[in-house]
Order: sequence, then C-alpha cells, then structure tokens
Amino acid sequence: MEFVIGFDVDEVIIDVGQALFDFFNTKFNSNFSKEDFIEFDFHSAYGITKEQTIEYLLEFYQTEEFQGIVPREDALEYLPKIKSLGPNIRIDLITSRFGDDAKKAAYNMISNYFSDDIRQIHFAEHSSSNYGRKHQILESIGARVFVDDHLLNVADASTVCEYVFLMDQPWNRDAGVISKYFPDGFPDNVEVIHSIKDAYYKIDKIYNV
Ligand SMILES: [Mg+2]
Repeated sequence: MEFVIGFDVDEVIIDVGQALFDFFNTKFNSNFSKEDFIEFDFHSAYGITKEQTIEYLLEFYQTEEFQGIVPREDALEYLPKIKSLGPNIRIDLITSRFGDDAKKAAYNMISNYFSDDIRQIHFAEHSSSNYGRKHQILESIGARVFVDDHLLNVADASTVCEYVFLMDQPWNRDAGVISKYFPDGFPDNVEVIHSIKDAYYKIDKIYNV
C-alpha cells in the first residue's frame, strides 16, 4: 500500500517570499518585507481588492524572477531522502497556484529538480472556494501526511490527514492569528516544523514505527 505524503509548494518547497514582496513594493512604492506579514493578507496590506491582487499575481507569475526561482536547499536535499525512505513512499504536491504561468513554473520545477521524487501535482482552488480545496484533494489521494505554511490549509488538513506539519513562517507564528484558525490550540496531529529536514526526521519516525 502506498504511503502518500503531500507537500504544499510556495513557501514550503520554494521561497517565493521576497521576490513577491519586491514586485509589489515596486508597484506600490512600499517597503514591506516578508517578516512584516504576521498575517497573510495581501490586499489589505497594499490597500487593493482581492481581484486586483489576483491580477497583480498573474503579472508576477510571468516575471523572470518568479519563473527562475530555485527550490529551497533543504527541499533539494531532503525531498529525495523522504522519497528514499521506502519503495511505497509517494510524494504529491498540492498547490493553490492559478494561471498557466504559475502552473508551467511548477511543472518545470518538478522536471528540473524532482523528476524522480514527485509523482503528481494537484492544483487546488483558492482557499475561499469550497470546491477542490486542499483537504478534499488530500482525502481523495489518501495522504497520511501533509506540509503547508497556511493556517487555514493546516486546519482543514488536520481533519483528514494523520499528521500535518506547519512550516514556520512569519504569517503563522502570531498567537492571535493562530487562534483564529485553532481556537483551542493545535490538535495533537499538528506540529510546527522549521525545514524540510525536520519533515524528513518526523516522517522517518512515522513511516518506521
Ligand atoms: Mg504555501
């Protein structure tokens, strides 16, 4: 039986972070850094509508900066190690990327860096829609473990996966923000990790019990 592990892409396998803020800062003559975002809320930070945010994101996805982003070093080193834990390990990516440019960049990343390690990529709908949300995909592929940086996705996934790891980022650290998604604190199957290396050691323990 396959042991399915799901990974989010942005801010987990690759750090889009600063490139994205640089793009918006140029547009809006602002000076935000990744660390300023204690809650992931682009449109209110820049005083624009959600529709405008999507428009700008589609533009950002076309840039060389975005298309040329290399995966995080810990992902390059440890995703293959996770895959090598056993013959029945299957790694799938589940991402909310939208638009052809962002999808193309994701396919390129897999074929350039992880062609032996990643089985499949699934494109989820935006978290505001009820159809094709990440946890529905996770359930349909039978993922036992999932790694994501967004609290909403982690909260949803914790209802369908055995283990969910929250990749530490500025927008998921603040106690007040966390309590919006987890009023009673993290459930037992949710843990914070700081790297794909952390994920490797935790998955190794789960897999080898
Ligand atoms: Mg993400």
